[in-house]
Amino acid sequence: MSAGDYYDTLCVPRNADEKEIKKAYRNLARKYHPDVCKEPGAEDKFKKINEAYSVLSDAQKKAQYDNMGHETFTNASKGSYTGGGSGFGNGGFYSDFSGFGDIFDFFGGGGHRRSGPQPGADLLMRIQIRLEDAVAGIDREIEVMHSEPCATCSGSGSETKRLNVCPRCGGSGQMRQATNSPFGQFVRMSTCTQCGGRGKIPEKTCHECHGSGHNRVKRKVSVHIPAGIDSGMRLRMEGYGEAGDYGAPNGDLFLEVYVMPHERFIRSGDNLETVIEVSPAQAVLGTDVEIETIDKRHIDLKIPAGVQYNMALKIAGEGVKRRGKPGDLLVRVKIVTPKSVSSEQKELYQKIIELEGKGGGVGGFFSGIMGKKKGKK
Ligand SMILES: [Zn+2]
Ligand SMILES: [Zn+2]
Repeated sequence: MSAGDYYDTLCVPRNADEKEIKKAYRNLARKYHPDVCKEPGAEDKFKKINEAYSVLSDAQKKAQYDNMGHETFTNASKGSYTGGGSGFGNGGFYSDFSGFGDIFDFFGGGGHRRSGPQPGADLLMRIQIRLEDAVAGIDREIEVMHSEPCATCSGSGSETKRLNVCPRCGGSGQMRQATNSPFGQFVRMSTCTQCGGRGKIPEKTCHECHGSGHNRVKRKVSVHIPAGIDSGMRLRMEGYGEAGDYGAPNGDLFLEVYVMPHERFIRSGDNLETVIEVSPAQAVLGTDVEIETIDKRHIDLKIPAGVQYNMALKIAGEGVKRRGKPGDLLVRVKIVTPKSVSSEQKELYQKIIELEGKGGGVGGFFSGIMGKKKGKK
């Protein structure tokens, strides 16, 4: 974990419970509150403490954070942090989209705002794909529920498209609230309740979006998922996040990919691996088999005489179809001992053992022991 780790920020161990986290947060927030602490950098520190607490105090965000790690988690929400305060939004809705079982999830947004137009929050959406699609790449259509600028008022929130300075905050978007506490007077800046932090209010509130400037819509988006993608990787779709304030850019949509396990193939970097079963006799004498590739083509494979257990036979170019250099398919040989044999087979195996006992076997220590055992029977 990097130095910016939220657990480090709050000086708590990674297994700290809710109470410990809360206690640590209170102590630190008290110590570094910008109205109390005049140390240089205190304000930054205070913001970081709040940011860390907003995530670790929320069971759902904490779980995401623990899963993704600090870098991934904070990168996904980049651009959506605003001011100090709660950082992450009050978001969090889940919905299942037919077929994919995608989970859709807000990242960032909301919370305290600075004055002026804010860029839209980023969204994170998880998609599941099949291994064969990760190998070859695929175009997918996904459904995104996000906010878009209102068409009626062009995103201004005002029917006349004109905005007036907010009378409550005078355009700053912030309100000061002073409270007395045993540690002195705290002046808390909070978002203006009339303009929602924008500092401006519509001249005539738009009937379509009720002045917000955005509408929530479901959109179909085509995504190209490139060959070689692996679980945990993210695709960024610029501008497909939440709508920004009037005059500010939209957030981005991040698609986090999960590659589902395949019943016959496993992936190892750009290579694929599969298993072929052969009998002991086939292993000794060698045989020809047919291998079905992940895209269901059939390829002949020669299993050489004397093949050893778990030996990998390579079929070049049948792995992940990454541009430039595709991976290979490794076929691992499993020698399967028959559980029951016919009397004829038994005779032949007996014969083999006799021959091995006379020095015709695999040689060395192992065959020596086998020979002795046989002799005692
Ligand atoms: Zn205001
Ligand atoms: Zn509108």
